[in-house]
Amino acid sequence: MKYEVVKNFYDGRFSENGATEFLDVTSPIDGNLLSRVPMSSADELNSVVESAKAAFASWSARPIKERVQVFFKYRQLLEENVDELTALVSEENGKTWDEAKAEVEKSIELTEFACSMPQLVSGEILEVSKGVECRTEHFPLGVVASIVPFNFPLMVPNWTIPNALVLGNTMIMKPSELVPLSCQRMAELLKESGLPDGVFNIINGGKEVVEGICDHAGIEAVSFVGSTKVAKLVYQRSTNSLKRCIALGGAKNHLFVLPDANPTMTATNVTASMSGCAGQRCMAASAMLAVGNVDSIIEQIAAEARKVVPGKNLGAVISKAAKERIENFITEAERDGATILVDGRGAVVEGKENGTYVGPTVIDRVTPNMSVATEEIFGPVISIMHTDTLDEAIKIENANPYGNAASVFTQSGGVARYVMEHASAGMIGVNIGVPVPREPFSFGGWNESRFGANDITGRSSIEFWTKLKKTTTKWNPEAGVNWMS
Ligand code: NAD
Repeated sequence: MKYEVVKNFYDGRFSENGATEFLDVTSPIDGNLLSRVPMSSADELNSVVESAKAAFASWSARPIKERVQVFFKYRQLLEENVDELTALVSEENGKTWDEAKAEVEKSIELTEFACSMPQLVSGEILEVSKGVECRTEHFPLGVVASIVPFNFPLMVPNWTIPNALVLGNTMIMKPSELVPLSCQRMAELLKESGLPDGVFNIINGGKEVVEGICDHAGIEAVSFVGSTKVAKLVYQRSTNSLKRCIALGGAKNHLFVLPDANPTMTATNVTASMSGCAGQRCMAASAMLAVGNVDSIIEQIAAEARKVVPGKNLGAVISKAAKERIENFITEAERDGATILVDGRGAVVEGKENGTYVGPTVIDRVTPNMSVATEEIFGPVISIMHTDTLDEAIKIENANPYGNAASVFTQSGGVARYVMEHASAGMIGVNIGVPVPREPFSFGGWNESRFGANDITGRSSIEFWTKLKKTTTKWNPEAGVNWMS
């Protein structure tokens, strides 16, 4: 085993915990055992909540300009440790070096945004009546929790950590049990940055701990990122115990390709979007709507996909179960009459025979009722459907229950505008395969890709992580009595 057993982190230190059940953490790249992760109990959650509670009073009392200093240092440490973090993310998640490095770089950008919070959270003040002023201030919520998925072991935790903590909250992080190692290193870096003990805490585990978080009276708010099935459960359970909750779910992102699209740019963008991070991105292209005759562009997409090679410029998928699930989708589409233009089934990387790889897969002539058209595959697979008109294509996109992203490839401003208006998704791209809004813009989908108000990052997250206090003052006792007196 390459690393020590994963530990919970609270009161500023790693804790030997009393868990009786541990899961293996293996690398998808070669199947090697990396560590073991404890499945903590609800009892251990109590100790972690106590740690976060105890730290809240003094952390939240610090002025924001002081709290932010910790994150200037954290940003610097992320940069200084970029190679080590990149290696760890790649090893535990299976993504390529460049993809893992991009995750560290994005974490730096997220931290930079949090460092600008003092400029963004100043409240409003207005003289509303002679001598009477109203003002607003953002107050932290208290102890908050962040439950994260496997596909971005470093970046998704950093969607929530810097913003929530700079705004004065203390946090309990629940990493994915499949990739718990990056969070362990992050706890060390936050401590080295000068974060007081108890402000950031980690509890490892699965369903039991997540349910405990939803129910716990000491936790004020829950942010969740993961599959729609679990997002719904977490949203329902935590709001039922009267918590604030944002729960981001899965996705089925549609790309509209029109005959006037720039062929080379479209082919490279579509391929990069569907195969980047082995298709395990909630912003990945999963369905393509070919509007009219775009056959030559489809040929180019297939040619581009053939240049994507497992173990070289394509990482592994997270587990044997994921590989099997993805390959089953492809087999089912083939059985139902779709054309497999590029087939990624049975991929094996020499020397890494225990790795879990699926090659890039392009499926043409998919019909809207096939499972590859409707369900999230979460692998390097694109399902191409053909329509005669843009409205038909929009109808297919609108009928899908998800709504994270949609993108259009065209040279026509009018067509682009029409898709921007009519696609039922929270994040829209024009001639871009992965339309992730960058800071200070916020990230969040629509429909069954997000439950709850607000987005999870950017300016919108300020509303989620704080509550507003409204104060009215009158300092002129000589003023006459009016309806506000
Ligand atoms: P997942 O839902 O299986 O797990 C997410 C978290 O929930 C993990 O921490 C896990 O331990 C916990 N969990 C799993 N099953 C649970 C249960 N039954 N009860 C309570 N907790 C449970 O998701 P995943 O497989 O880790 O991640 C992939 C999914 O995440 C995909 O659907 C992807 O689209 C989605 N995702 C969405 C976004 C977004 O922004 N919308 C971003 C990243 C990933």
